[in-house]
Amino acid sequence: MALKITEECINCDVCEPVCPNEAIYMGVEIYEIDPDQCTECIGHFDEPQCVEICPVECIPKDPEHQETEEQLLAKYQRLITEL
Ligand code: SF4
Ligand code: SF4
Repeated sequence: MALKITEECINCDVCEPVCPNEAIYMGVEIYEIDPDQCTECIGHFDEPQCVEICPVECIPKDPEHQETEEQLLAKYQRLITEL
């Protein structure tokens, strides 16, 4: 499942540089996550790096982007071959 950033985001800027997939970007008002590039950090780290570092805990899983671990791994494989 991709993650999403809620409106509690305070635009502190710390999550964007820690994402291994460059999935986090500044949106119109707050930071956003591109679900096509978020793998929950699978393939890179044991824990989602953005969740670990976010000071206000505003990055839950996005129920609108349900994915299995296999699908996330396949996304990871696709992303590393595109780099
Ligand atoms: Fe990036 Fe990982 Fe956060 Fe997804 S969970 S947005 S891949 S840091
Ligand atoms: Fe927003 Fe959390 Fe990212 Fe900071 S770390 S910009 S509060 S989502």
